[in-house]
Amino acid sequence: MQYKRILLKLSGEALMGEKQYGIDSKRLAEYAEEIKEVAEKGIEVAIVIGGGNIFRGLTGAATGMDRVQGDHMGMLATVINSLALQSALETIGVQTRVQSAIQINEVAEPFIRRRAMRHLEKGRVVIFGGGTGNPYFTTDSAAVLRAIEIEADVILKGTRVDGIYTSDPEKDKNATKFDSISFADVLLKGLKVMDTTAFTLSQENELPIVVFDMNKKGNLKKLVEGENIGTVVNL
Ligand code: UDP
Repeated sequence: MQYKRILLKLSGEALMGEKQYGIDSKRLAEYAEEIKEVAEKGIEVAIVIGGGNIFRGLTGAATGMDRVQGDHMGMLATVINSLALQSALETIGVQTRVQSAIQINEVAEPFIRRRAMRHLEKGRVVIFGGGTGNPYFTTDSAAVLRAIEIEADVILKGTRVDGIYTSDPEKDKNATKFDSISFADVLLKGLKVMDTTAFTLSQENELPIVVFDMNKKGNLKKLVEGENIGTVVNL
């Protein structure tokens, strides 16, 4: 196995599947199967999910809402997604725990690093909800932060494109994909992998990022087995 402990970052929008809003149960079930496959291989799996399929603080601010209030709503949206994924995983027999960065004790455990690591060692999938618990951050930042804290080997960013390209492959036919690229080159070439805060945190802590297509069946398993898919960002 290429990795022992991974942090998987999924965007909230990915959970929409074909829908325009909310959670697509078919997509959720597919993701759960992918995650089960790697967990069964003995890989320790932690997950951070975004909330963009339900609410984004910036969208709220654009319509006149207080930004912090909007961000609180966004963080709650990530808790909703975390619970949905927990449910999908438990339906197929995967043991999970949700830990939230904002206190919501009747619904999820609080984030406690040592406890999270213990769950992982016992083979439970740990889903971190509530982002970082602070407004003005993103779930990409939360993913990097948690990955560093739990000493994950890598952050796997599941997207709908299969890696990092020289330009946007959905717009430019001549775009070519990188198999690997350094943090410095991503910055130099002005490529978009994560928001700057998240990206810098990853770079400073030498945490590699793999960008890959999570919607292609079997990709997550291939990745942890060491197959060369997606794009790796490292030093
Ligand atoms: N959010 C926040 N602090 C965090 C993480 C998230 O305030 O640490 C809020 C923010 O409003 C954000 C929303 O939660 O817009 C949803 O997260 P994100 O946009 O990262 O989700 P994704 O794009 O991955 O679906």
